[in-house]
Amino acid sequence: MSTAENQASNTIFPKGDRAPTEYFTGTAWIKPLVANDTTFNSVIGNVVFEPGARNNWHNHPGGQILIVTDGTGYYQEKGKDIQILQKGEVVTIPPDVIHWHGATPDSEFTHIAISTNTQKGVVDWLQPVTDEEYYSLKNKGDR
Ligand code: MN
Repeated sequence: MSTAENQASNTIFPKGDRAPTEYFTGTAWIKPLVANDTTFNSVIGNVVFEPGARNNWHNHPGGQILIVTDGTGYYQEKGKDIQILQKGEVVTIPPDVIHWHGATPDSEFTHIAISTNTQKGVVDWLQPVTDEEYYSLKNKGDR
């Protein structure tokens, strides 16, 4: 795939490579931006989620910051309702909080993910987000 094909005109970064299907439901793309090292102890990547795509439940031992750059997405912490995220919003995720993030069913969603304090660990992956969990906000609204 050429660079032009891999980059829509309104995006900042190339889409990168397909996100691993063992940790993502649906189609998502990851472009690494900053690799982990002992100076910054951070991993930074751009993630594009196609409509309906989301990552598994997971936590970050060192925390994570999400900067939403395009589209509309979902963010949910375990035991709480899904939050809707729009372009321009920033989410700070404390260490060890179990959560997931992804696109809404009808919109593509792009964020920059900054995993911090990586000397404590980058990510612990858990189970996939079920359709029942993913559609819980929509179903709630329909009642
Ligand atoms: Mn996360």
